[in-house]
Amino acid sequence: MTARAYKLASRKVSWLCVITFFAVSLPILGIVLFADDRISGHVSIDRSTVFLLSTPFLCGSFVAGAWVMDLIDRRIGLHCARCGRSLTLRCDPRKVVESGVCPGCHENVIDAA
Ligand SMILES: [Zn+2]
Repeated sequence: MTARAYKLASRKVSWLCVITFFAVSLPILGIVLFADDRISGHVSIDRSTVFLLSTPFLCGSFVAGAWVMDLIDRRIGLHCARCGRSLTLRCDPRKVVESGVCPGCHENVIDAA
């Protein structure tokens, strides 16, 4: 793979992952906060306590977003042929282009131009 092809693919996957992360996590976050508001209106517990009790669900929305990002990366992301490590998620594309090697196993992944 050339450096240009890697940059284009990396940029595409990164944007898709960011958009998907927020598209998944923000609606869940909104639903949990809406449920907090509705629940606090019907129970005699303080509103802040209801919010505190829902914290795991609030954090879960971000975990769900990260899980979907990982799923997208596994489907359309670039991976090292030797070790299978993602070259588009959780690594710096600039370092991969500069060095031309996988950050995990140091296998050559970018063709020298
Ligand atoms: Zn590797």
